[in-house]
Amino acid sequence: MKKYDVVIIGFGPTGGTLANLLALHGFSILIVEKEKSFYPLPRAVHFDDEIMRVFQTIGITDKFLKHTIINKGTKFVNSKNKVLLDWPRPRSVTENGWYPSYRFNQPDLERKLRSRLKDFKKVFTMQNTKVTSLKEDKKSVKIFLEDVNSKKIKEVTSKYVIGCDGANSTIRKQIKAKFQNLGFTQKWAVVDLILKKDKKELPDRTIQYSNPKRPATYCRNVGKRRRWEFAIHDNESEKKVLSNSYIWNFLKPWLKPSDAFMERKTIYTFQSAISKKWKKGRVFLAGDAAHLMPPFMGQGMCAGIRDASNLSWKIAYCLKKNHSDKLLGTYQSERYSNVREYIKTTVKMGEFINAIGSSNITGEVSSSPDGKQSMKSIKPKLGKGLGKVKDKNRGKIFPQFKTKNEKSLDDKFSLKPILILSKEIKKKFSNKFNLIYSKNNKNLEKFLKNSNSIAVIVRPDRFILSSCKSIKNFKSYLSKNLSFLA
Ligand SMILES: Cc1cc2nc3c(=O)[nH]c(=O)nc-3n(C[C@H](O)[C@H](O)[C@H](O)COP(=O)(O)OP(=O)(O)OC[C@H]3O[C@@H](n4cnc5c(N)ncnc54)[C@H](O)[C@@H]3O)c2cc1C
Repeated sequence: MKKYDVVIIGFGPTGGTLANLLALHGFSILIVEKEKSFYPLPRAVHFDDEIMRVFQTIGITDKFLKHTIINKGTKFVNSKNKVLLDWPRPRSVTENGWYPSYRFNQPDLERKLRSRLKDFKKVFTMQNTKVTSLKEDKKSVKIFLEDVNSKKIKEVTSKYVIGCDGANSTIRKQIKAKFQNLGFTQKWAVVDLILKKDKKELPDRTIQYSNPKRPATYCRNVGKRRRWEFAIHDNESEKKVLSNSYIWNFLKPWLKPSDAFMERKTIYTFQSAISKKWKKGRVFLAGDAAHLMPPFMGQGMCAGIRDASNLSWKIAYCLKKNHSDKLLGTYQSERYSNVREYIKTTVKMGEFINAIGSSNITGEVSSSPDGKQSMKSIKPKLGKGLGKVKDKNRGKIFPQFKTKNEKSLDDKFSLKPILILSKEIKKKFSNKFNLIYSKNNKNLEKFLKNSNSIAVIVRPDRFILSSCKSIKNFKSYLSKNLSFLA
């Protein structure tokens, strides 16, 4: 096949998620990846409830759950091990229907995303192949590919192209997007270990060592996996820092060489940056290609998965329902400010770990009578885009409610918009909409009441599109949103 609905460049977690979400709509998709296999170095170990909800839509949670553990939270301590700040992650299910925070190993997720794609006949992959350039006309994009081994050049065309090709994105360069540096740049070593036997004395939580001499992070990961990360000084040799003797010396307070097997080690430059442009015509950027943040909050990959969730249904509406390019224009504006908030908060966390910033990282820090400080997670709304700015409900996440027979609305109306109506609306509508009356569902009724609404429209990515406050306005509300609901 040489013509596709969508070509995705890069088969990391963003590309894998996007391919799955689009494949569920039945589109023909080509995924182009320059490497033969998974990225071999240490990367993401954390994701949140919102992301697990996307995995639920894709249909991988049953198989993936056993590769995760629930994360209990993070403690920030000083060089004398005194707790400066607590970031607890409650062990209860959130409005998204999942636990607030999970630990995992990135290759396990990528394996599940790739294996799920085998269920779709119109999804193709070309590995060992890199994109070299693009040429766009009004109706399609021509993509020039090079076989990494034979250097042979191939050409394919697609209605849309999404660059999920990571930090050094070729697609970002192709669309001439400026990558704006947001201020944080620091070299860190990252070491993944597998314990040979249980070490109960190791913390069960993530510990951020806010130590000006050597800022560091410890992560309790799935099973016997543990991770340490530590900042490197400018005058240190990378070769020396990555030597076994240097690393075991650093690990001395916790482990000796006979306790664990060193699986992977590397040095990264943790950065914060954002692309000024995420779309040019039929070409888009998503994931690390569009934004970068240091890993202190464990939100870099999550941001890419949020991009995929936002963009996939908009592309589906254009391909299947003839919606215009204007809809696709809301992708950047909605995602940009959301990811900017995560980057800003992560940078503040990085400054606190470097002992140069305040503990008021999220603006939501509370102190108990004994002086202990704890912070809450952030859940930024979507930026301006669909819906009216003065509608306070727009851009907020819609909780995952269950119907009377315990089926979740997400599963019942997967990939579809939902119209939620309160008991005040007496008119019976035909089944042409995906409709739920809140009449016999106390939780839904309570939600509408708290949202000061009699009707709410939920987007396929489970954010609120818009809400209607009064019966008086309902008729015009419905007619304005018909094209979205049909
Ligand atoms: C130490 C560390 C810890 C982290 N921890 C977390 C965490 O706990 N939680 C979290 O959410 N995030 C975390 N992150 C961030 C997360 O790993 C990344 O955000 C995520 O991998 C980005 O996914 P992506 O698919 O956008 O890009 P990538 O994973 O980089 O994938 C891009 C793919 O594109 C391919 N490619 C590139 N150029 C081309 C080309 N021209 N043609 C074809 N293919 C190409 C690459 O080979 C690659 O496979 C961490 C990162 C680091 C470094």
